[in-house]
Parts: sequence; structure tokens; C-alpha cells
Amino acid sequence: MRPFLYESFSSVQEAMAQSGTGSSFIAGGTTLLDLMKLEVLNPSRLLDLNRLPQMRGIEMNEDGLYIGALEKMSDVAAHPEVVANYPVISEARLKSASAQIRNMASIGGNLLQRTRCGYFRDVTTPCNKREPGTGCSAIDGENRMHAILGTSSSCIATHPSDLAVALVALDASVRLQNAGEERLVKLDDFYLVPGTTPDRENQLRPGELITEVRVPRLPWARKSSYLKIRDRESYEFALTSAAVALDLDGDTIRDVRIAVGGVGTKPWNLPNVREALVGKPFKHETLSAAAKLAVHGASPFKQNGFKVDLVQRTIVRALSNLGDLA
Ligand code: SF4
Repeated sequence: MRPFLYESFSSVQEAMAQSGTGSSFIAGGTTLLDLMKLEVLNPSRLLDLNRLPQMRGIEMNEDGLYIGALEKMSDVAAHPEVVANYPVISEARLKSASAQIRNMASIGGNLLQRTRCGYFRDVTTPCNKREPGTGCSAIDGENRMHAILGTSSSCIATHPSDLAVALVALDASVRLQNAGEERLVKLDDFYLVPGTTPDRENQLRPGELITEVRVPRLPWARKSSYLKIRDRESYEFALTSAAVALDLDGDTIRDVRIAVGGVGTKPWNLPNVREALVGKPFKHETLSAAAKLAVHGASPFKQNGFKVDLVQRTIVRALSNLGDLA
């Protein structure tokens, strides 16, 4: 790890005034410090946000749920309002990382975590995301864990966050703040597919922070769930995952929300699957037929073709778990 300066602040404005070339904000540090040790990221100054009270708090009101970006993953997962009103968020948190990491990692940092592509973390290999213009080692290399949706000839890395998949399914937004303005951006729009600029992963501008996550009120999200399929049951990233919420009127699907993880270069929202399900009977045939739409436009690679089928079955099982099939 290269030497760096460390500074701590007591207001968001103070922290922002100090941000600039070579500096990086730090909260839990569970991704950043790993990448600094590997010399993938080499900030010369770390600006510690942990003393900022403005970025804390978990609150439910008539508009929905507000989560301060500095709240710890474990605290959000266990919060009674989250458990009762949005179990999909709580489950996505509890299926992320390890207990030790969940106790340290912040919500904002989780949404901004970098890809787990092994080549990104290995500075001896070409990687367009780490070093634009050098090439993508994964396309013809180890790509079993990589994406099949939203890929480009520049990058095929998956987005690693489980929480982001749940929040995209719930139509959540992030509040962004820089020295001059605040703005609210839908999380689904916040993330970018790689295209020709895989080093640009989201809409965050230089010096800008995620200060808060907002989840709209959705009473029927009390019936929601996060199913994660992985090689081992703990401390492992998703092969595929599905965040689902279901509103049934008898045996008919009144409304539904679905987003999937482990398959897209960003958390993959599925409005087309939702459209195909609304008003239809809640039965296996209907779910299977709609799930096929999830892989529309998929481009599997040499080692990850199994995800095409697996993600469909993940969606069907996640939805089936929420009700009694007709
Ligand atoms: Fe780099 Fe993306 Fe290719 Fe991985 S998939 S080597 S992150 S460019």
C-alpha cells in the first residue's frame, strides 16, 4: 500500500471542500482498503466521512423509507421497519459478504463497491475498467462469474451488490450532494452499462457523495424476498439472484416487482417481466413464460452460458416462494 494522508470532518460541506484530484472519501473502507493494498486504487488523501451525523439515520414515514448513507449494513438488515416493510432489503443485506464486513460496511459504500472481476484486482493483467484502453482479459479468459446482460466488447463484469438489486426492484433513489447542489436520482438510472467507458460505472460526479437512500412506500412489499444462488452459502457473490415483491388478488397477480443480480453489468431491472405477469394467474406456467423475457438480448460467454437458464429458474422460484401457486 502506498502512503496517503488521512483527514476526518464534522460536516458534509467541510469534507466536500477538501475533495479534489487524488482524494477519496472513505466510510467503512471494506472495499477501498482492499483495493489500496492491491494498488488497484492509489488515492493520496483519504477523507473520512464517519463523523458526519447528517448521513445517519433510518426512518419510515408516509413517503417511505429513508436510510442515511453511513448506516451499517447490519443495522439496516436488523431494523424493525425494514424487516417488517421491506424484507427483500433485509434479506439482501443478510446474504451479502460476512458478518464482520456487514458490521463495518456502509450502505453508500455498498452501492459504490467495485466489481469482483479477478482481472480488475490483478494489476498485472489488461483491464479496461482499471486502465482504459488496455483490453478486457475476461472476454477470452475466466468468465464463469461474469455478466450475460448489458455487456460490451470493452467489459463484461457483473455489478456485485445484492442490496442494489433489491433497491432497484423497489424503485429506490439515491440523494447525491456536491459542494453546489443536491439531486435525487433513481438507482436504476444511477448505474451505467459499460459501453466503451467501463471505468465510468455510475452518474456520480467528481467530489459528489451519496448522502441518503430513499425507498418509496409500497405496502405490498411486505411480501417480498431476495433469493441468491451461489457456490457456497456464506461469503460468496451471486451466480444469479432475484429480488421480488408480489401483490396477489386471489390467484391473480395484481402487481409485481423483479430485478436480478449476478447476470448484468448493473443491477438488472425487469419491467418487461413485470408487464407480462400483471393480471395473469399466479401459476408455474405463467411465471416460466414471463421469466424467459428476462434473458432477452443475453450474450453468454464460454464459461457462463448456464446463467441463461439459471436466472430464469431463480426468478420462478423466488416468486413461487411468495404465494401458493394455482
Ligand atoms: Fe476489466 Fe471488465 Fe474485462 Fe473484468 S470484465 S477484465 S473488469 S474490463
